[in-house]
Amino acid sequence: MPILPIYTFDHPVLRQETSQIEQDSAELQKLIKNLILTMRNAEGLGLAANQVGKSLALTVIDLKHVPGMEERGELVLINPALTGTEGESVFEEGCLSLPGIREEIVRPEKIGVKFLDRNLKEVEIEAEKILARVIQHEIDHLHGKYFIDYLSPFKLSLLKTKLSKMMRGDVETEYPLAPPSGPHPKPKGKVRKLAGM
Ligand code: ZN
Repeated sequence: MPILPIYTFDHPVLRQETSQIEQDSAELQKLIKNLILTMRNAEGLGLAANQVGKSLALTVIDLKHVPGMEERGELVLINPALTGTEGESVFEEGCLSLPGIREEIVRPEKIGVKFLDRNLKEVEIEAEKILARVIQHEIDHLHGKYFIDYLSPFKLSLLKTKLSKMMRGDVETEYPLAPPSGPHPKPKGKVRKLAGM
């Protein structure tokens, strides 16, 4: 199935540290392709492998949303790690695993990041603005972190109802979701497609 269901708050796979990828395989290349298709279908800026239930240090970013890089397809980052940060900026973030939630988050404005590309070749780049923002958001996923983890306890408390609904699967999206994390999970393997109104 090329388009994979996306896991939402607070599934255990989204809270775990992902595993580093040591070698190429047909399975890895298939996962990269499916991640890209899943990201595009959901109109996401980026998608991490654990958002589709695979606990691997792999993320993809759609460059069509990055000014000046619109024609460059997608960026595939395997085992990414920040090598430096600079400045600070505020940006309203959203997340395919937290449908319906958007919050202003402060992060470094410029970053250096090293990673392996889709051919497992070492790459180091500098990024700023929206690209730096998405890369940091995705690297956080790979370490089991959501952007809402940066919110104050007060701001987080305002999201409590939305988050508990999400954990029951009571959420509408234009893209398929994996069964909710609980407290009353649906049987495994069943994928709900919730139509947008
Ligand atoms: Zn996200």
